[in-house]
Amino acid sequence: MPRTDKVCFDRILPAELRRPLPGRVFSIGGGRFRAAFEVAKLWPNGSVIRMGFVNGTAAQQNMVKQFSVQWTQFANLTFQFGAIAGAQVRIAFNDDGAWSYIGTDALGIPANEPTLNLGWQDEGVILHEFGHMIGMIHEHQNPIGNPIEWNKPVVNAALSGPPNNWTQDVIDHNLYAKYELSQINGSEFDSKSVMLYSFPASWTLNGFQSEPNDVLSDVDKAFAARVYSRAVVPSLVDLPVAEAVEASIGQPAEEDLYKMTARAEGRYTIETDGPSDLVMTLYDSSGNQIAQDDDSGAGRNPRIVAQLMPGDYKVQVRHYNTANGTGTYTIRAAKG
Ligand SMILES: [Zn+2]
Repeated sequence: MPRTDKVCFDRILPAELRRPLPGRVFSIGGGRFRAAFEVAKLWPNGSVIRMGFVNGTAAQQNMVKQFSVQWTQFANLTFQFGAIAGAQVRIAFNDDGAWSYIGTDALGIPANEPTLNLGWQDEGVILHEFGHMIGMIHEHQNPIGNPIEWNKPVVNAALSGPPNNWTQDVIDHNLYAKYELSQINGSEFDSKSVMLYSFPASWTLNGFQSEPNDVLSDVDKAFAARVYSRAVVPSLVDLPVAEAVEASIGQPAEEDLYKMTARAEGRYTIETDGPSDLVMTLYDSSGNQIAQDDDSGAGRNPRIVAQLMPGDYKVQVRHYNTANGTGTYTIRAAKG
């Protein structure tokens, strides 16, 4: 049964709804890779993501555990299913469609709300929603080599009625909007991706249709393994406050990890400088994300300003382009 009645939507933060799709998205080039990740929302490589179930039967929960972990055979991530209290990803089985926040957006959602919903369950939809959860976007919104010519009156009529009842804003955002070309590395449309919507030929003007993809495609697997690479394991380097540390992203997908100690409560500024386009994330000692930044500093450098209590913190630096980016930088933390 094709899932054309109820289609997944990316649950997005309200501030993003009326904006163009975020530009900080790329997919791996080379002609073979097409899967696309939203870079600013990736979990740190090697993350153990804590997950809990809001509701659901034992059978439903077991099905999720069974199928979702296929991603972790390729991505260097661990899905740790446990108590709902403290869970970073909260999975519900409400009659509310199938959706997920993208990547680390889940961390900003109030703790009493789900971050991933499975209004229906099968292998395909579980893999698809967990794809969003690890940062993947919809393939039909990739501008490169995209063969889809939407028949908008038909699509609008189908999705504005039950069971989706989407507004035009939501349809525009989930179907027609595409990520910015300048932020996508050359890629090729993969009709086998689990991240592609399934829809009938009547939804397009050119006869394009998409069958349900219920398993990870070879490209899905390869891409997850590169974005969350097991080949690159970060080591922890001291970042003394008020001293500059020279460093580099020496190979693609490298993540540099620093330990910073705040000796007194107050405002701290952590920033990089140099020619590389970097993304920086600040964590507390338990690994909870405090802040993330891409371009607030000089040029394309990140800068985070945070009010901190005394204690140890971790600062992660990675290249914006985790597929191909390398380069040097200086990192500095200062009080004030
Ligand atoms: Zn989706």
